[in-house]
Amino acid sequence: MADAPVPAKILIVDDEPANIDLLAAVLEEDGDILFATTGASALAIAETERPDIVLLDVVMPDLDGYEVCRRLKDNPVTAEIPVIFITALNQQTDEEAGLVAGAVDYVAKPISAPITRARVRTHLELKRHRDRLSELAYLDGLTGLANRRRFDEYAALEWRRASRHGRTISILMVDVDEFKHYNDSYGHLQGDACLKQVAAALRRQFARPADMVARYGGEEFVGILPETPLDGALVLAERARAAVEELAIPHEGANTAAVVTVSVGVACVEAEAATSLEDTLALADARLYRAKSMGRNRVSAG
Ligand code: GH3
Ligand code: MG
Ligand code: MG
Repeated sequence: MADAPVPAKILIVDDEPANIDLLAAVLEEDGDILFATTGASALAIAETERPDIVLLDVVMPDLDGYEVCRRLKDNPVTAEIPVIFITALNQQTDEEAGLVAGAVDYVAKPISAPITRARVRTHLELKRHRDRLSELAYLDGLTGLANRRRFDEYAALEWRRASRHGRTISILMVDVDEFKHYNDSYGHLQGDACLKQVAAALRRQFARPADMVARYGGEEFVGILPETPLDGALVLAERARAAVEELAIPHEGANTAAVVTVSVGVACVEAEAATSLEDTLALADARLYRAKSMGRNRVSAG
């Protein structure tokens, strides 16, 4: 059975609780309802909960709806969340102000339940499509692992985090051994199937939430292990190497082994100003080539 779709999160912001109740009743079938009665709490909830849509009252004490909308749009974490203004103001200039502040739509009070529901559904649907597209933009099509773009963004983020706290970061470069020969012997399609299996085996080893393994390109994979010292990274690298060997994918005629294997280069550094992410990737790559020159199907960290 397919997974049930995750319910949308709908944030309703109004200083009048009765209005929130009314809208919540109209939208109860369309998702999980969150609410806020001030602009400040709306901003805080939007940042932590990442709702799929925000229904925003314009006239509120303290921060008004336009200002809340502008701040949502200025914060990269909340900028992509669609905002609909729900308000008693219904002059054309008010509608314009809402749209200029970054809203996608505008509903006048007193609200019509079917119109409000229809507009919310349209914008939730569009949001779902956008989310799906950006998900796809970050996935490698063949293996389903994170792609190079996703890795580069995530690694840069983790590098900054680690260097703020002077923490250790480990990078693993993994490359399939004699893969040109594999393609030549078994054909490109079976080569692809082999890469999928290798990717799945690698993914199973990177179990911690902060760990990531990505397809770096071709038959090369890269893993990042935040806050992991060398001994831990070596354990994982060896486990990854063994996991691929244990897949026992036949590779007749290979010099390394009778099955598909990988070589792994490991670099572990304290993230700080003196080193860079690029240097660390290059170091892992140099060690990968050392593992190759020492006979393949092995891990090198020096
Ligand atoms: P080494 O042990 O030194 O790594 O040798 P190698 O043959 O694996 O390395 P080389 O870089 O010479 O060849 C890599 C091969 O990987 C060549 C290329 O055709 C193949 N390859 C790269 N990407 C893909 C892919 O997406 N699918 C398939 N089937 N093959 C790929
Ligand atoms: Mg190779
Ligand atoms: Mg290669």
